[in-house]
Amino acid sequence: MQLSGSCHCGAVRFSVESPHPYPFNLCYCSICRKTAGGGGYAINLGAEQASLQVEGVECLSVYRARLTDAATGATTESPGERNFCSRCGSALWLWDHRWPKLVHPFASAIDSELPVPPERTHLMLGSRASWVPVHAGPEDRLCEEYPRESIEDWHRRLDLED
Ligand SMILES: [Zn+2]
Ligand SMILES: [Zn+2]
Repeated sequence: MQLSGSCHCGAVRFSVESPHPYPFNLCYCSICRKTAGGGGYAINLGAEQASLQVEGVECLSVYRARLTDAATGATTESPGERNFCSRCGSALWLWDHRWPKLVHPFASAIDSELPVPPERTHLMLGSRASWVPVHAGPEDRLCEEYPRESIEDWHRRLDLED
């Protein structure tokens, strides 16, 4: 389905084609929480980078988190490019050069009506803040880190591909 999104101040507007628009993937990692998840997590959708059209590109900024290796303490820059509005701070989408054909809009930036997922995946629970509750339904999957199942796999398993 075609998704329309925008930041809160309206300086950035975008549209993108999404074969995988169900907002089922709740990420509790500290980056999502701090940059996009006031309730403790952020939700990424799956969309096609080639179809992304943006108005207000001059107001976009990109944040790349620094990641610390727990074992060695070495830091590296995350390959994930988090695009946000430099005027109002709204998180808009994530793009990663390792999967260049995909783009992951944050559900919170989408203005189109999104379909309601029949079940959810709660991921990166190992990084969850202690004050954040996990409201898991009976069919939900709980993952300490990243799940093996991709956003695309989830839609395919539940026969919800667009
Ligand atoms: Zn804005
Ligand atoms: Zn995350």
